Amino acid sequence: MIKAPPGTKDILPPESEIWQKIEETARKIFKLYGYREIRTPIFESTSLFQRSIGEVTDIVEKEMYTFKDKGGRSLTLRPEGTAPVVRAYLEHQFPQKDQFQKFYYMGPMFRYERPQKGRYRQFHQIGVEVFGPSHPMMDVEVIAIQWRLFKELGIDNIEVVINSLGCEKCRPAYRERLVEYLRANRERLCETCQRRLERNPLRVLDCKNEGCRRVVREGPEITEFLCEDCKKHMEQVEKGLQQLGIPYRVDPFLVRGLDYYTRTVFEFIHKSLGAQNTVSAGGRYDHLVKELGGPDIPGIGFALGVERLVLILNARGLQEEKKPLYFILLGEDSLMKGMELMEKLRNNGIPVMWTGKTGSIKAQLRLANKKGASLVAIMGEDELNRHSIKIKNMETGEESEVKWEEVSSFLSSYYS
Ligand SMILES: [Zn+2]
Ligand SMILES: [Zn+2]
Repeated sequence: MIKAPPGTKDILPPESEIWQKIEETARKIFKLYGYREIRTPIFESTSLFQRSIGEVTDIVEKEMYTFKDKGGRSLTLRPEGTAPVVRAYLEHQFPQKDQFQKFYYMGPMFRYERPQKGRYRQFHQIGVEVFGPSHPMMDVEVIAIQWRLFKELGIDNIEVVINSLGCEKCRPAYRERLVEYLRANRERLCETCQRRLERNPLRVLDCKNEGCRRVVREGPEITEFLCEDCKKHMEQVEKGLQQLGIPYRVDPFLVRGLDYYTRTVFEFIHKSLGAQNTVSAGGRYDHLVKELGGPDIPGIGFALGVERLVLILNARGLQEEKKPLYFILLGEDSLMKGMELMEKLRNNGIPVMWTGKTGSIKAQLRLANKKGASLVAIMGEDELNRHSIKIKNMETGEESEVKWEEVSSFLSSYYS
């Protein structure tokens, strides 16, 4: 038997209903903030990710699904959503036509990682990207969108963590001080971090290794190196969050796993998830558009891990939707009228389920039970002759015979 590849997962009902709920809620909220959907291809030129994410990152070094197509091009299944959106933004000349844009996207991303709880090789993200504004209040808005999304989905115990990564003016001094400090503590770092230290020292801050974390937390804090502009930016973000009543914590060691961030970065953390506890994250990327060959246009965005959100919602239990009316037609004669009746009910917004069976009532009721039907409609010869159907509530056992023309109104309160 052929199985799904390691690190991938089928999304089956009823779990797919949680996915729909998340997607619908996200779309609704993005609309509230004036964001519009963008859909980019699932694969891109490999160089796009090398240039945007950074050569010395785990993603580019180890985790990309890269392949040559039959035309000899090097292509990569997208490992994240921001670079493709920036690529599309430039390719379609938004900077010249209409620089200010608010986009959202949702879809699968791909990384070759060790599969573990809540982490897959094909995983799904929902995210936004804003191009144009450099104002700190846009950072606040982007954080507020996520906050609203979690609230609307009924998720509590979310912690908002923010930090500033500074800018090209102030980051070098911090970086220098950090490298100096890490070199002095080299033997306390894990092997990977000893390598990172020379090539990309900020990445050491991301290490999950306990020893490395201890070293990092005793080291220099970037917040003490911020230039006046960056400091002011951060203060404004904090003021904005306070104004909106969004609780947050500043973590001076928070960096994101990608090279392109500047100034504000943030993470939304949910404790129930254990080590992989980040549900949503992002930040400002004021130079990414330029680095990918465009003009100097600032940007900011976030991406949310749908699988992790599903884990949280799953643990909380699914709020069951009303099961469709389960139709039982007995004998070929009842089929024609039955089909017509079902369509009429659907015209009135009443969900109807039919299995394609016409066999004995006993067998069909057994199947209805197995399918968890709560309301069953039965039409056999007698009902057909009386122009009616029988409606049975499977939970209470209550039965009523209803005229064809009255079925919709009879059921409307149940399905409203
Ligand atoms: Zn700065
Ligand atoms: Zn380490």
